[in-house]
Amino acid sequence: MKYKIITNNLFDGHNFHKRSLEITINGNKVEKIQPYHETGNNDKAQIIDARGDTVLPGLIDTHVHVTMNPDDVGRWDDWIKEERKEILILKGMANALSLINSGVTTVLECGACSDTGFILREAINRGIVKGPRMLISGNPITITGGHCHYMGIEADNEDEIRKAVRHLNKQEVDFIKFMPTGGSLTPQSNRRGVQYSLSEVEVLVEEAKRCQKKVVAHALGTEGIVNSVKAGVDSIEHCAWLAPEDGYLFIEAVAEEIADKGIFVTPTLPSAFRYTARMAQAGFEERINNYKTMHSLGVKFLAGTDAGVPEVGFEDLAYSVQLLHEEIGLSIEEAIETATSNAAKAIGKEEELGTVEVGKLADLIIVKGDLSSDVNCLKQVKYVIKDGERVVEKGRDAYENQLH
Ligand SMILES: [Zn+2]
Repeated sequence: MKYKIITNNLFDGHNFHKRSLEITINGNKVEKIQPYHETGNNDKAQIIDARGDTVLPGLIDTHVHVTMNPDDVGRWDDWIKEERKEILILKGMANALSLINSGVTTVLECGACSDTGFILREAINRGIVKGPRMLISGNPITITGGHCHYMGIEADNEDEIRKAVRHLNKQEVDFIKFMPTGGSLTPQSNRRGVQYSLSEVEVLVEEAKRCQKKVVAHALGTEGIVNSVKAGVDSIEHCAWLAPEDGYLFIEAVAEEIADKGIFVTPTLPSAFRYTARMAQAGFEERINNYKTMHSLGVKFLAGTDAGVPEVGFEDLAYSVQLLHEEIGLSIEEAIETATSNAAKAIGKEEELGTVEVGKLADLIIVKGDLSSDVNCLKQVKYVIKDGERVVEKGRDAYENQLH
């Protein structure tokens, strides 16, 4: 199928272009971007007249748990062991649909039980289920009884860590997720303390690099952040700078190192604002101020949501972008980069995804209104093209009644 999108407002993944353009999609690629002239439509392309709205790259959510539901409250280990695998997969199907409907064309699945993530990835790739392109970590690496052990691979020393990475590589995961600190959804784990020593984290990163996999580190406590940065992970999730005992321990020199090394940080703001803000009112402002300082030091953020954890839904990526803009102080362009070009770079897919450019995969969305003046336009997705195919067409009537 060939499409021509006519626009006067294109966000290409870095900047807005406010002039009349025609974007030609042929097969699964962007074939041409050129000035629009009303010259007719000789090559029988489907015309999508998006003038008045904003065209931008398909969104990338760098942190989801696609088989979990935000209303599955309480301790995950309590209900997960009872939940049938079939139900998890069905939840995943429904969530995949919510993601694509909200303009998300690629996700990083950051932890799912047993082989449910693999099954969903295959179902989407084969066109059985509608949803975003899934890059998966499979089962995250954690210590025995550690954070997310109920969906993870338990590895307690350097040899076991090497074996876990090799096992995941054998299963053809897309990246490695591990837990250098404990986490809130596993109460017996210590979210302020480390689960792995520096040398263990170094072994994990070394083995992952040998397998050509990116490494995503879940780190709440400062010591776990420090070990992850020293070992050279690719991105840090949450990055809450929790001190070993209580309160926060922000280390500016480490934040500078994060910026210098080009390590991406996903602060998972939707959960922070809806959940942590209520649970820990006292220190919340400090946590947000630390993110602001990181931004001023040049740390690159990602908008990943942590969708699937309590109170974070699969349509929340736009909310995450909004929070980065309004609460942390990123410009609108910078905030949208966290879900487009920067996200593609973080996952090593910048040659194919994240910008609207000739030769790249045709993942494009159209949102209602002028996104350059109102970040909330991102919440009104009218049209989604993934891999050159139209998958969401809420605005179909609006556009196609204006066929030229
Ligand atoms: Zn998560």
